[in-house]
Amino acid sequence: MEPDKKGAGPGRGRGRRDREVFREPQVRSFAAPEISSDPAEVWRHNAADDLGLHPDMGVAICARFCPSILVHESGHLLVAKKFGLKVGAPVFIPFMGAFIALKEAPRNAWMEACVGIGGPLLGSLGALVCNALGEFFAAPIFIALAWFGYFLNLFNLTPVGMLDGGRIVTALSRWLWLPGFALLIWFAWKYPNFIIWLIVLLSLPRIYSLFRKRTEEEQRYFEVTPSQRCLMSVLYFGLIAVLLFGMHVAQQDLNKYGFRSHGHGHDVIVQ
Ligand SMILES: [Zn+2]
Repeated sequence: MEPDKKGAGPGRGRGRRDREVFREPQVRSFAAPEISSDPAEVWRHNAADDLGLHPDMGVAICARFCPSILVHESGHLLVAKKFGLKVGAPVFIPFMGAFIALKEAPRNAWMEACVGIGGPLLGSLGALVCNALGEFFAAPIFIALAWFGYFLNLFNLTPVGMLDGGRIVTALSRWLWLPGFALLIWFAWKYPNFIIWLIVLLSLPRIYSLFRKRTEEEQRYFEVTPSQRCLMSVLYFGLIAVLLFGMHVAQQDLNKYGFRSHGHGHDVIVQ
């Protein structure tokens, strides 16, 4: 989603093509009808505006990005601690995200699912607060950030491999890893990105494990009571529905603030 930097030079002699590919914040008012509908792009520009930086500056992105990841990771941390698992502090990997290191593996699928859903639950709550702030202060930057929060947490709920969703469905049905894997490949195909392909690769061992005979120990690991399975299903599918709805509402709000409806101009800017 990196905009082409060719058009980023100071204004003079900028052709139409350049204007379409990249817009500096100060020309935005003139180019309003063309502004990206992609909340991610809106957010990048606004973050840079606030800090007086070039929209591509990683620091501007991180200033907005890190808090939402931190909230998400804290969710995992809190639940892991509640189960008495030994955990390390969240580890941030620049431009990739973050993870918490469990010094002790979950003892069963239920525990793994609970630790898995803790992150998206708290992360989504954080995005909701962000959205409310955006509404209250009429600040589209917060709404764009909320949209991003919804999206990130939703992506993490993809039921595959080491993603949170992959851990959560260990308590539902591990066969959900298959549609999750297909979804991830579709996503990686549509939005080619090294990290997503890396997640695809890292998901392979768990997919493979579906087709080999389980050891007795593994069988014990995946045992969950019907009420646990029921509760986790409601939380998991409920959260997915809430996040989809949140993204939709945030997108509508952004449209209200003058950002064009979904699809138009999207292909031009986000490459
Ligand atoms: Zn997570």
